Amino acid sequence: MNGQVFLSGMVLSCMPVGEFDRRIVLLTKERGKISAFARGARRPKSQLVAATNPFVSGDFDVYEGRDSYTVHGADIKNYFEELTSDIELVWYGYYFLEIAEYFSLENNDETERLILLYQAFRALLSGKFPVELVRCVYEFKTLVINGDYPNVFSCGGCDGKKQLFYLSPDKRSVICEDCHGRLGGTAISSSVLYAMQFITATPSAKLFSFTLKEDTQAELERITREYYNRYVEHKFKSEAFLGL
Ligand SMILES: [Zn+2]
Repeated sequence: MNGQVFLSGMVLSCMPVGEFDRRIVLLTKERGKISAFARGARRPKSQLVAATNPFVSGDFDVYEGRDSYTVHGADIKNYFEELTSDIELVWYGYYFLEIAEYFSLENNDETERLILLYQAFRALLSGKFPVELVRCVYEFKTLVINGDYPNVFSCGGCDGKKQLFYLSPDKRSVICEDCHGRLGGTAISSSVLYAMQFITATPSAKLFSFTLKEDTQAELERITREYYNRYVEHKFKSEAFLGL
């Protein structure tokens, strides 16, 4: 179907095309991830100059052609300028965008991922949370949204819910005291188990609402990193800038 559509979402990335144009990737509520052409988006007087930058979110007026989209205009709600002008935070921002672009799909319901991105940016800017915590909550919740995350609610051996003292990357599950001898797994603290349960079960809109003790946060960062190194077979470009 061809015609005009209004899509609400966020610009994940943009690249120059020809002399004056851009191609952008949008994460939208209505169509999941789409790529769209923005004619004249590099002409200084075009409204699309500001509207087609990464981090920009709002409502996009888009023409849907047979096999491509073209951006005509936009009603921008948030540019996240404070994020793009902070030399450290902006790399976290780019890292989050890159992860979202890698995992999202066209014509898929990506609403939760969109909310997660938005809330993660707000959390970065609030100054209330350590940036490393925002990063690993974002990384862990991304696994949950992808549907590929460790079971943190019951033992991967017996399905029991008590004495969940271990985590087995092989079984992608927590392991109870009784099954540990048979199934192995590395010891985890009850605080990190609780944090992982909270991140898994809480909607993204309410996710950034807690901080952790330093050692619990370090443990969560380590577990999340191990999981990414093992199961996410992709190296994100912005990781290098974050020293990951
Ligand atoms: Zn068990």
